[in-house]
Amino acid sequence: MKSVYIEAHGGTEVLTYGDQPDPVTDHGDVKIRVKATALNRLDLYTRDGGRGLEREFPPALILGGDCAGEVVELGGGVATLKVGDRVVVNPRLTCMQCSACLAGQDDQCRRSRFLGSAINGSYAEFISIPAANAHVISDNVSFEQAAAAPTTYLPVWNMLVRRLELKSWQSVLVLSASAGVGAAAIQVAKDVIGAKVIATTSSAEKAAKAADLGADVVINYTDEDIRERVREITGGAGVDCVVDHVGADFFAPAFASLRPGGRYGICGATTGLRTELHLGLLFSQQKEIYGAFMGTKEDMREIVELLNKGVVKPVVDRTFPLREAAVAHQYMDETSFFGKLILTQ
Ligand SMILES: [Zn+2]
Repeated sequence: MKSVYIEAHGGTEVLTYGDQPDPVTDHGDVKIRVKATALNRLDLYTRDGGRGLEREFPPALILGGDCAGEVVELGGGVATLKVGDRVVVNPRLTCMQCSACLAGQDDQCRRSRFLGSAINGSYAEFISIPAANAHVISDNVSFEQAAAAPTTYLPVWNMLVRRLELKSWQSVLVLSASAGVGAAAIQVAKDVIGAKVIATTSSAEKAAKAADLGADVVINYTDEDIRERVREITGGAGVDCVVDHVGADFFAPAFASLRPGGRYGICGATTGLRTELHLGLLFSQQKEIYGAFMGTKEDMREIVELLNKGVVKPVVDRTFPLREAAVAHQYMDETSFFGKLILTQ
């Protein structure tokens, strides 16, 4: 089958479009003809081999996690799906045997594997995955939109809905609205929960898009001070929750924007992994910090329900043909965009 794979770490030159063997469909698996795949920063980190993702070659590795497509084959024992179903794939495979998985906390599974990073992924014509990781999507949801959902909405759902328990009468600060996670957080906070949303971004054009998505106020951090503006907007109180997926560069002003007793969720650190935390303010103001990595299978089921009802509408910036994966990687690295980048075939 045609695929995009790497046989060494490096820049975009290591991305090869060519043939790899079809995936094996084991007991409990479904084989999917991939129609759309979303790019994630993880794809670039896996390609580079940085951030602890260095691996041995051979064998070659097919990149790609988030995807959507059509079921073309069922492994033994699969009862929940049928050939022809349109599905979206949760790219985090969990063991479903450990104590965390058995307790429904499979986001904490110690034997989890990420498609396209630990094992062959979705930059390919076909992928075989456990049936529990495939969710049926309605005909009104495009493959591109569905593919854009899992890695953006799962951590947002994990944080805002399940753990931070944001309420409709509360406020949330969403950092960097233009990234997939930022856009997803605005939608969930506004359209699902009904909270007041303060978003940050870096240009007037992106600010307009964030407002279109539902942000009540957008702070342009290139010429406004995040902490000061949040203080003004909230009448000096601070926000109830923060959604942070960018890390080091914005942690200090965002943490300072949180009210006493507020909850801080972090699910990514694209601007840097280390920061300084004032422990005195943490305990005296009784703030809470939550780390979130993807979400549970139940989180995914709830997200797909809302995707199918049209409440959740993932934002796609642009699509590229699969064979141009290198161009898409370059675009992600060097361009300013809003939403997700998608590979189609
Ligand atoms: Zn497990």
